[in-house]
Amino acid sequence: MDQSETIATPGETNLLPEELNEEIFRLKKELNAVILAHYYQESEIQDLADFIGDSLELSRKASQTDADVIVFAGVHFMAETAKILSPDKTVLLPDLEAGCSLADSAPADLFRHYRLQHPDHLSLTYINCTAEVKALSDIIVTSSSAERILRELPEDIPVLFAPDRNLGQYLQRVTGRDMLLWQGTCLVHEQFSERKIFALRNEHPEAKLIAHPECEEVILDQADFVGSTSALLKFTQTDPSPAFIVATEPGIIHQMEKASPNKLFIPAPPDSSCACNECPYMKLNTREKLYLCMRDRKPEITMDESLRRRALAPLQRMLDLTSDSSTNIHSLLEEIRLPFTG
Ligand code: SF4
Repeated sequence: MDQSETIATPGETNLLPEELNEEIFRLKKELNAVILAHYYQESEIQDLADFIGDSLELSRKASQTDADVIVFAGVHFMAETAKILSPDKTVLLPDLEAGCSLADSAPADLFRHYRLQHPDHLSLTYINCTAEVKALSDIIVTSSSAERILRELPEDIPVLFAPDRNLGQYLQRVTGRDMLLWQGTCLVHEQFSERKIFALRNEHPEAKLIAHPECEEVILDQADFVGSTSALLKFTQTDPSPAFIVATEPGIIHQMEKASPNKLFIPAPPDSSCACNECPYMKLNTREKLYLCMRDRKPEITMDESLRRRALAPLQRMLDLTSDSSTNIHSLLEEIRLPFTG
């Protein structure tokens, strides 16, 4: 993260909320920009976006537009992913401090060292990591593609999964496959309180518990449905239950309520005095910072081209494996060089 960049702070404009919206739409035209909002953004930001979704889905959609500028209301690794897929577009992030505890848990130098200690292991790496860590990985996965790709890997290939240990443990349970697990966690998904969720379920016996696989095992074990953020949203639209206890970042509830206005959505509480469990990084972005980054054309995500290409390769492998093309795991394994030499 380039700390020399100016970080927009709230209160720098005297614009009223309606004026801010008008200015954002005016700048969007002027810049030929596309605005992306992750599901965990504030609802007022989601309502301004061209696309709302999971991080990879957003980056892919933006890359398919003819926009010159991508404004990514999300966190730093997501904006990096957008840059990896759209090198010719300018990528703006409203607040450069919007990081991620999972990405921070895997510094590139430690990750390289870990891989060198286990050179025969193929690195299956969750997309919530820095571009440097992606560049050191063999195949990138998302929470929706991880299980499928892991099942395709031949049994005799040892696998190292990073950086989320909860997602790794979940994958081990559902596939029966042993992996070496990096011990990173998401500070949001790790904090849900089993005791409070149990109390909520007694209070709302009609509600189903739905959970993201980054949650701890004790929460996933009692969930009625486990899936990526997009999968959770879809489940609430298709399942007939009138109520859901939602064990992921509560920003997604805005889209759940829009899609199913007659259903009740209850944020799963954390093990603290707060009623819900917001991601402090995601919530650094504000509508005012969104406006300021468009007005000032910064902070901008820049990336060395060699790093971008190295980070793209394992990301592209996942895209190829999950697309309708005829790519199969064996042809991809031929291009992955093991043992890992750094
Ligand atoms: S919710 Fe967790 S994984 Fe997502 S950005 Fe926040 S800290 Fe990272």
